[in-house]
Amino acid sequence: MSVSDQRSDVRVFVTDQQSLCTECHQSLGKPAWVVVTEESAVCCLSCADLDDLAFLPAGDPAMTRRAKKQTVRCAVVFKRSYARRRYEPQGLLVEEPALFAAEQQCMADADVRKQRQERNAIRRQELHAQYVQRFAEKVRMLYPGIPYERSTIIAAHACRMSSRRVGRSRAAKKLSDQAVTLAVVAHVRHAETIYDEMLADGIERRHARQMVRSQVTACLKNWAVQGPVAPPC
Ligand SMILES: [Zn+2]
Repeated sequence: MSVSDQRSDVRVFVTDQQSLCTECHQSLGKPAWVVVTEESAVCCLSCADLDDLAFLPAGDPAMTRRAKKQTVRCAVVFKRSYARRRYEPQGLLVEEPALFAAEQQCMADADVRKQRQERNAIRRQELHAQYVQRFAEKVRMLYPGIPYERSTIIAAHACRMSSRRVGRSRAAKKLSDQAVTLAVVAHVRHAETIYDEMLADGIERRHARQMVRSQVTACLKNWAVQGPVAPPC
């Protein structure tokens, strides 16, 4: 068991409120770094025997993990987020030698970790490409008459990363018939009907969808038929 597993970390709060240490009676200024004792009293870092610790901001997981592993005393620092109405962790207070050692270790294997990150990014890209491919295959399975390039356009569009499009939904990730069909319907609406022009003309979305519905249905029916590629509808 590592040292860090044996202790429950002390919590330090960064506060903008005017604070007075209940032990040394010093005014702590603003912002003040305080510990709240078991008796709900506010105490300064010096009285809490934490003032020799160094602050390590959150955001570097390797540094945090390593520093935490090597420090005997550790405190988690929280600050109030007024927007989110809660205290959020800002980083750790750790012993200086632990921070120094963690820095050395991180510098020593920075290249290795960077390479690992790059490999992971490539792997994610590969997985994504495979997913888009499977999505396109599913489109062609449901709509065997669809022109091949249309299936790839639909899949790429629906699955675009960091979008909220249908291809990014949980149902689509399982390639459910419904989710894939939704992506095809959206494509047909935009590519085969005057839906976009209607919207540009200020026609209400729901109304515009209703107006192109029969055209969309006809196109899907056409694509659902196996055999020679149907003429564009
Ligand atoms: Zn004090």
